[in-house]
Amino acid sequence: MTSLQDIADRYGTPAYVYRLDDVERAAAELVGQLPQPSSLCFSLKANPHPDVVAAARVAGCRAEVSSTGDLRTALDAGFVAADCLLTGPGRSDAETEAALVAGVGLHSVESPHQLRQLERSEAATGRSPRALLRLNLPTPVRGGLRMTGKPSQFGLDPAGLALVERSLSELRHVEVVGVHVFSATNAPDEESLLAAMGAGIDAGARLRDSIDLRFLDLGGGFAAPFAAPGAAPTYPELAPRLEELLDASLPGWRDGGPEVLFESGRYLTARSGTLLCRVLDVKESFGRTFVVLDTGVHHLGGRAATGRVLAARSQPLLGDGEALLVDLVGPLCTPADVLGRDVALTGAEPGGLVALPNVGAYGLTTGLLGFLGHRPPVEVALHGDRVVSATRVLLHRTTVEEDTRVTAVE
Ligand SMILES: *Cc1c(COP(=O)(O)O)cnc(C)c1O
Repeated sequence: MTSLQDIADRYGTPAYVYRLDDVERAAAELVGQLPQPSSLCFSLKANPHPDVVAAARVAGCRAEVSSTGDLRTALDAGFVAADCLLTGPGRSDAETEAALVAGVGLHSVESPHQLRQLERSEAATGRSPRALLRLNLPTPVRGGLRMTGKPSQFGLDPAGLALVERSLSELRHVEVVGVHVFSATNAPDEESLLAAMGAGIDAGARLRDSIDLRFLDLGGGFAAPFAAPGAAPTYPELAPRLEELLDASLPGWRDGGPEVLFESGRYLTARSGTLLCRVLDVKESFGRTFVVLDTGVHHLGGRAATGRVLAARSQPLLGDGEALLVDLVGPLCTPADVLGRDVALTGAEPGGLVALPNVGAYGLTTGLLGFLGHRPPVEVALHGDRVVSATRVLLHRTTVEEDTRVTAVE
């Protein structure tokens, strides 16, 4: 087995290591817990590394993309555009048209404006889009980052939905073919997932009279540990109970009418990733011990980028001394660069290697990469023992001669 120590020696630190077999295994695990038949979309937001995205495709996923860049990455990883679902609360006309020209199969619509935008896009592209209505259902749902049952930029609230329903008969080009709900990421337990998805099934059944319900995207929220050791939850009740609800409300689902979709980023990739870093300094300050690492919130966004409280607990690879409770911080010149407080660490000394586990989702791309000009980490993708790629994303400045709006998925 290629050890983390070998990788650190060979490629240096900080280094993200992604085990692609773990992505494939996680996808199989999740698919095994979902009602069947159904499709699972990989949310590129969680980790757009090309090899990770390709692993999700190999594992049988479709792609959920939220930008032209995501779409490019998905296509490069071998996804066909027809298997891509475009989501997100803000898109320019040009981005909408670029996605349509590329052949994106489903466009999630989050507002009356986005529906009009799609309708207009036919004139520029000659293509007729297929849309899902993303709903912000009135039932509050518990979750890590909640997006439904409260005012938010996501989805159509009941008033927005009523507006859209009134305009459906005027649509000439957009085919509204289904419903999309996504309530929260990192759901705290199976019951809250079931409640959110049950509400999605009810909404789909209610809207069957006004739209041709060919797709029912029940979203996700499947949880996984973040930057701390631990296993992902299992959902033994999910498939039987959702199957029961689907049978009762939308019995055609077993024959694909509607086709049921789910989405996940975190569950599929979180456990595949480890961030390897080295200790730069160990110092005392008014009685507390600070371990300064060569990585921080510029490489691992956590709290800084996603509003989440980051509870990183490191797993030191070197040193077998006594565990000390330390504050784990990065090298940035801001007191916000904290990866963990009161973290138990053994053998912390300059040069020592530290591994932050379970950071394969919402890692590098949630970091403040441009802040303070440190070099971004190397990213090493492994399949078994084989190094599939070792690459580094760089920020670099180029001269812009004119408006470079996104007009195509180039
Ligand atoms: C963020 C997001 C996801 C993925 O969430 P995870 O917690 O990573 O599974 C899926 N769908 C939508 C619409 C999202 O915004």
